Formats: sequence, structure tokens, C-alpha cells
Amino acid sequence: MRIVLMGPPGAGKGTQAERLVREFGMKHLSSGDIFRAEKDSDSKLGARLASYMDAGELVPDDVVVEMMTKAITRVDGGLMLDGFPRTVAQAEALDKQLAAAGRPLDAVVVMTADDDIIVKRIAGRRTCPVCGRGYHVAFMPPKRPGYCDDCDGAELTQRSDDCEETVRQRLEAYRAQTEAVIEYYRNCDSLNIVDVDGNLDAEVVSVEVIKALASIEAQTKKVHSRGDQA
Ligand code: AMP
Repeated sequence: MRIVLMGPPGAGKGTQAERLVREFGMKHLSSGDIFRAEKDSDSKLGARLASYMDAGELVPDDVVVEMMTKAITRVDGGLMLDGFPRTVAQAEALDKQLAAAGRPLDAVVVMTADDDIIVKRIAGRRTCPVCGRGYHVAFMPPKRPGYCDDCDGAELTQRSDDCEETVRQRLEAYRAQTEAVIEYYRNCDSLNIVDVDGNLDAEVVSVEVIKALASIEAQTKKVHSRGDQA
């Protein structure tokens, strides 16, 4: 199954992505994670990415499409895209790539959340730099404050763009450019859209999303097996 996970920063995409990977075994590609890895490598491209990311602005489409096309090409089976596409031009480029490979999208999961909840969630977000596990100081705290439960002694870090001012800028970029992508997908007849209230507890959201995607997966398999028999 191939899906796109959409929603503003802090809607809970990362948490759901971890659970969906466990449930469906898809490869999770997060554009933000891919760009952060490049940024941390101290390359010229990394410095260019940092100038946009640290200001909460979108990275230009040509750079994003080139990097994500490469990453997607390397994936064989199921795929979950998170943070990409964020503009209509990126969505069109993705459609072209997947159509050429005969592997169109099956579903788009659209998560929403209120601004005050988003800011609260993001301000408390922490990550283990060793295993990448996500925590929240209030909602999903580690056993020992500030340290990863799994990686002996690894100190949790906070993303440099998770401060309130940058979060507000990222929300603005989302409204200005990414909401149009959701409309773009709503206008695609063959695509399943799963709308999710990201204000709810992550457990409740998981159950809902897994149920919806399992039913889409079953339907997709039925269509494929009919095609095989024809
Ligand atoms: P994220 O981890 O998805 O919140 O992404 C962090 C930052 O990476 C964003 O604020 C953007 O600066 C950049 N970024 C990630 N994905 C994209 C994308 N698809 N298009 C443009 N910029 C992106």
C-alpha cells in the first residue's frame, strides 16, 4: 500500500507514522528527516536547506523533488510519505513518478489539529539522537527525564525549528501552500481520503486510521486479484 500522511506540524503525523509502520510494514519516508540528515552532514546542500528550515520556510520545489524522487526510487514495496508533497507542484511531480512506475497512491490520510494544541505539542517534543524515538515532556515522557528509555545514557534533543516563533511560521507556510495539496487530492476520483481529528488522543487516532487503511488495503487486494484473474 502507498499512502501520504498530511497535516500541519504537531498534528501527530510522526506518532501515527511509527504505529502505521508497525501495523502495515510500509517504508516510512519523512522529507523533514531526510533534510535534517543532509543538514547535519555539513554539506553545501545541507547549509542551503538549513537557511529555509531554520526560518520555518519551505525548501524550494526543485530541491525537494530531486531529493524525494531519489529516495522514493529506492523503495520497493509499501510506502508512507510524511511531509511530502507540501505544494501542488510537488504533488504533480510525485504523481508523474508513481504513474511512470505503475505504482499510484492508494490513500491520503489528512490530519487536522487546533493551533493552541499544536504549539503545546511542539514545544514539548524531544527526540533521541541515537534511535530517533520521539517523546513529549508532558504527554509521552521518558522514564528518566531528558534521557532515552532504550539507548543507555543518550540525552534527548529538541529540534532547532521547534521554537514558538518558527512553529507559527511553519503553520503559515502550511496554510499558504499545503492546504491546496489536500484540495488537489480531494479532486482525484480514484484516491481514498481518510480524514482524522488529530486533536484526539494518539491511541484513538491510531485505531481509527488503522481501521480505515486496513479496509482500503483489503479493497485494493481484491481489485488486484480480480485483475490477475481477468
Ligand atoms: P517537517 O519535519 O516535516 O516539519 O519539516 C521540517 C522542515 O523541512 C520544514 O519546515 C521545511 O523547511 C522543510 N521541508 C520538509 N519537507 C518539505 C517539503 N516537502 N517541501 C518544502 N520544504 C520541506
